Amino acid sequence: MKYVLVTGGVVSGLGKGVTASGIGVLLKACGLRVTSIKIDPYLNTDAGTMSPFEHGEVFVLDDGGEVDLDLGNYERFLNIKLTRDNNITTGKIYQAVIDRERRGDYLGKTVQVVPHITDAIQEWIERVAVIPVDGKEGPADVCVIELGGTIGDIESMPFIEALGQFSYRVGVGNFCLIHVSLVPVLNVVGEPKTKPTQHSVRGLRGLGLTPNILACRSTMALDENIKAKLSQFCHVPVENIITIHDVPNIWHIPLLLKDQKAHEAIFKVLNLSSVAQEPVLKEWNSRAELCDKLHEPVIIALVGKYTDHSDSYLSVMKALLHASVACQKKLIVERVPACDLEDVTAKENPEAYKAAWKKLKGADGVLVPGGFGDRGVGGKILAAKYAREKRVPYLGICLGMQIAVIEFARTILGLQDANSTEFDSNTRNPCVIFMPEGSKTHMGGTMRLGTRRTYFQALESVSAKLYENQRYIDERHRHRYEVNPDMVPRLESAGLSFPGKDENCCCGIVELPNHPYFVGVQFHPEFKSRPEKPSPLFLGFVAASCGELDAVLPRGGQEKVSSTYRFNGHLPPKLLPNGKASNGLLHGVYNFCNGVRL
Ligand code: GLN
Repeated sequence: MKYVLVTGGVVSGLGKGVTASGIGVLLKACGLRVTSIKIDPYLNTDAGTMSPFEHGEVFVLDDGGEVDLDLGNYERFLNIKLTRDNNITTGKIYQAVIDRERRGDYLGKTVQVVPHITDAIQEWIERVAVIPVDGKEGPADVCVIELGGTIGDIESMPFIEALGQFSYRVGVGNFCLIHVSLVPVLNVVGEPKTKPTQHSVRGLRGLGLTPNILACRSTMALDENIKAKLSQFCHVPVENIITIHDVPNIWHIPLLLKDQKAHEAIFKVLNLSSVAQEPVLKEWNSRAELCDKLHEPVIIALVGKYTDHSDSYLSVMKALLHASVACQKKLIVERVPACDLEDVTAKENPEAYKAAWKKLKGADGVLVPGGFGDRGVGGKILAAKYAREKRVPYLGICLGMQIAVIEFARTILGLQDANSTEFDSNTRNPCVIFMPEGSKTHMGGTMRLGTRRTYFQALESVSAKLYENQRYIDERHRHRYEVNPDMVPRLESAGLSFPGKDENCCCGIVELPNHPYFVGVQFHPEFKSRPEKPSPLFLGFVAASCGELDAVLPRGGQEKVSSTYRFNGHLPPKLLPNGKASNGLLHGVYNFCNGVRL
């Protein structure tokens, strides 16, 4: 096993996660198998309790791990499936060490940060690095470890110490340190400044770590003389200084790394030059270029609670992007703060109210994502009502599904107080109820988390078609509440349909037939969307928002040819009958499966 450690310096928010994922993609493109570990030096044991306001979305893994959103980047970029243990936090490490201490495993010794915490970190890395994550057997060739935070943070010190020891333990040729730093270009002088990077590298060295490669974030590509200066002061060879300058979309990052021969620099450090091949990034190339060229817009209103923080709905944004690129449309997401749609806002802040409704009404599709707590629920219900009545495509995810059911019960069944017991425990018409896994009395550990199976009841539903008429699907969940099974017959008789249920007959999918696209799902399809394989429900939603749902649906009555849903998202889905891409970018004859090109 070879290790690539990615650290960050100067400031946070440099795009270290994307850089590390891009490095993973590049190595994978050279024929290597790649896994990844993200270290978050905060004390929380996992990201499950962290507010999306502050920290961005909580990403959910197959095994139910609630982890940092960077793991989502790794899964999407590398098309792998990680485990909860691939996200290390200070909380997890301390918990493991304290558990051991309580068991008496330390045989009376004083338990200390060095060596006990630092040993535990190294053991954890070695244990997790060998877990296969790409569906193949046996360990990967390279493990990319990203250390969260910035060099010099107090809380990352035990990790830095552990990683210093670790690099020594695995030995020269097995460990490559890439330091992501900032080279600001000051407007006044217009010249890139190397000093912050010099200081940051000095700090790193002072802590016992020597960078092999510098990845410099900058607004522009760096001149040779700047690289020479960095090389001289940071003791890193010029050819190992890579610039990550601003690019139009993140799919350019692996290409940028490749163009600057980052793979060769890494292989030299890791003694891999003889085994690795030249990187093949054709798909990334065409996808990045296609994405830059798209101009016909599709406008999606994202009605949520956390609309200020750009990362709060990161996976939803990515899934929308995957789908819109597949539909050859330029994605425009209008973030609508759910509260602003409510009547109280009309009185308290009429400007915000007007702006929110203007955005909603100007959108081609309405998406209500997951959420917890009752803030903004009224606004979300209004958005679902608007989409249902005005026949605007709607995708409701988790809470977005639940509020669509509440809205239907209120308006169509006339049950004024229909509600979720999450928001009104005394409602006489509970259409969404607490159905915890495990205990009925405890909140902790009662969340339905991770992959659960949803069985299709009726194959003629739009969701079943989008999933290629598979009998069942496995998607990731994160919720405590569900549609009340006792109310389902009434809802169904009023026209709502529930085409997907789990093994306990809980409703996983809700649809409104005779609507251009009205789908709600209890699970989170966004977590499994990939650039090369957009989530079917997002694809259907975006296609419907462009008025082109039929283009992505299998043709009726046709025998299903393939069981796997493969969609080359980087290629345009609509091909002219002669097999030529409709935008003239890509040519060739392609195979189809139920109208979707294979
Ligand atoms: N709060 C709702 C529940 O717990 C929805 C959760 C979500 O949207 N992820 O069921």
